[in-house]
Amino acid sequence: MVRLSGKMKNVGKGFYGLFGPPPQGVIRFTVGEPDFDTPDPIKMAAITSLVKGDTHYIDSDGRLSLREAIAAKLKAENGIAADAKEVIVTIGGKEAIFDAVLALTDVGDEVIIPSPAWPSYDAMVAIAGGRPMPVKVRPDNYHPDIEAIKSAVSKRTKAIILNSPNNPTGAVFDRGEFKAIADLAIDHDFVVISDEIYEYMVYGGRKHVSIATLPDMRDRTVTVNGFSKAYAMTGWRIGYMHATGDLIGSMKLVHMHATTCAVSFGYDAALVGLKECRPHVDRMVKEYDRRRTMVRDGLNSIPGFKCPEPEGAFYAFVNVSALGMPTRDLAKHLFKEANVMIIPGADFTFGEGYMRFSYATAYDKCEEGIERIKKAVPKLKK
Ligand code: PLP
Repeated sequence: MVRLSGKMKNVGKGFYGLFGPPPQGVIRFTVGEPDFDTPDPIKMAAITSLVKGDTHYIDSDGRLSLREAIAAKLKAENGIAADAKEVIVTIGGKEAIFDAVLALTDVGDEVIIPSPAWPSYDAMVAIAGGRPMPVKVRPDNYHPDIEAIKSAVSKRTKAIILNSPNNPTGAVFDRGEFKAIADLAIDHDFVVISDEIYEYMVYGGRKHVSIATLPDMRDRTVTVNGFSKAYAMTGWRIGYMHATGDLIGSMKLVHMHATTCAVSFGYDAALVGLKECRPHVDRMVKEYDRRRTMVRDGLNSIPGFKCPEPEGAFYAFVNVSALGMPTRDLAKHLFKEANVMIIPGADFTFGEGYMRFSYATAYDKCEEGIERIKKAVPKLKK
């Protein structure tokens, strides 16, 4: 037996079987990635890069042309006064979050995570030797419970990880909530890691807010974003982050020693995405919105299912506690009876009693899946 790091005991089992093509006949509400293909202009730019021989290591922080375009985007769209020197291009937004956690966390340090949350946050903090501190969100609308966050802050709090629009709940936090969390971060001297990977997917007139734009937050925020969700580029593995001073300096070291640089022939492609492909993004977001209202109404018509307004991202988080059964058993029943796959809330901290539905699946498939569930639920043994 090899002697593994004791930290691995706290990392959980991971999520396998979520990616790749679905088994035949199965309708999958589990996938957290766009069902759209990457827009053609982005693909063509990558092909040109490959043909040109853009296949070598590049600057660790990322090629300047893309970092400048990202800084300009952060300024124009998010209101963050960003400089290209403060931007790192990473292997997906995931690496950016991990770099931040590693740069900030000493063994025993605490990182607050409003939960249910994307499970990788807990795992990253545990791998870094820190203590994930899950804080339950409000059960009615899945927004952060500011009083509960306040109570979780301690001398060992190094950071909080915020994700709005949210995976798995679909919540979009408002400016007042960000302000309350910013005040806590300033008063207690901790950093906000703001995962904004779903920023364009906000519905019903809601507005995405970047916490780095609030007073005194620029220098204590790591803003994380990427191309995976917005541009349907999950397999390309291109993300980025913005921070200032020693914070970005330390994350540059983590990034350099872990990865050297992001994929060279993805750079010009990502640049084309930023500069030319917003209409493609808007088209995809419009389609998610169309599915969202159908999925919400369809799920709410199933006895025992209660689906609060999905405000953003492409997830509906449905309260199924009225059915009175463990959600892993419910997911198994629906897979067997209805050939649909759904993530049970039990897979998320504080998620038992809920199910996560991704509507990044074609409209007619979502519709058929809901019909199948409607027929399968009455067959549950009481
Ligand atoms: N953050 C959240 C909340 C996510 O759901 C995901 C992917 O599922 C990521 C970050 C990672 O995205 P990327 O593909 O850019 O690494």
